[in-house]
Amino acid sequence: MARALAAVAAAALAVAVATSVPARAATRAAVPDAARPASAAPPFRGGIAPLTAAQRAAMTPSAWRPGCPVALAGLRSVRVTHWGFDGRVREGRLVVHRDVAPRVLAILRRLYALRFPIRRLEPIEAYGGSDFRSIEADNTSAFNCRTVDGTRRWSEHAYGRALDLNPLENPYVGRDGTTSHAASRPYLDRSQARPGLVRAGDAVVAAFAAEGFGWGGAWGGAKDYQHFSASGR
Ligand SMILES: [Zn+2]
Repeated sequence: MARALAAVAAAALAVAVATSVPARAATRAAVPDAARPASAAPPFRGGIAPLTAAQRAAMTPSAWRPGCPVALAGLRSVRVTHWGFDGRVREGRLVVHRDVAPRVLAILRRLYALRFPIRRLEPIEAYGGSDFRSIEADNTSAFNCRTVDGTRRWSEHAYGRALDLNPLENPYVGRDGTTSHAASRPYLDRSQARPGLVRAGDAVVAAFAAEGFGWGGAWGGAKDYQHFSASGR
């Protein structure tokens, strides 16, 4: 009996070794940079896909309509796991230009490795295409066929080449030092590191910069702390 139990224990150990070694190897392969998830963290999951017929229909006409600078065929859906502010792993989705989709996926992989919390990741059509409503929900989004506020010029978001990260913690701050969102007022003070906050020289700015994305928090005059774009604009 004792021998049988020992055999069972040895078999269980063998299984544990057999399963844990490839799992660690897979994590290392999936995250090529030095910043690896802590040992207990589930590995990052993410993928890129063309928009489905249902997604295209849901985007039209709130987020996309004929006359927008990028065709729906030029956009991609990036689905990932991310950390929430509650320390749990969640799932979310972004819509971006196909040319930047692999880089956006790489950035989100790095943010996951950093355990940087993201409130929510939903395409802008979940908010009727309203940038204001998306910000009020502290939603991180990318593609939105809209103009720059107060102009007739397409926003970088209309090309799917810009991403707004935790917009309440990282507000757009005008030259007068104010924000349009009351919930962002506590974050006008950027002197302290806080969860979800992006600050000059931090690992989040570096994660985007590693993929060639510039940060709106580095602009002179008005600052767009939530905004990262492939063009730097
Ligand atoms: Zn933006």
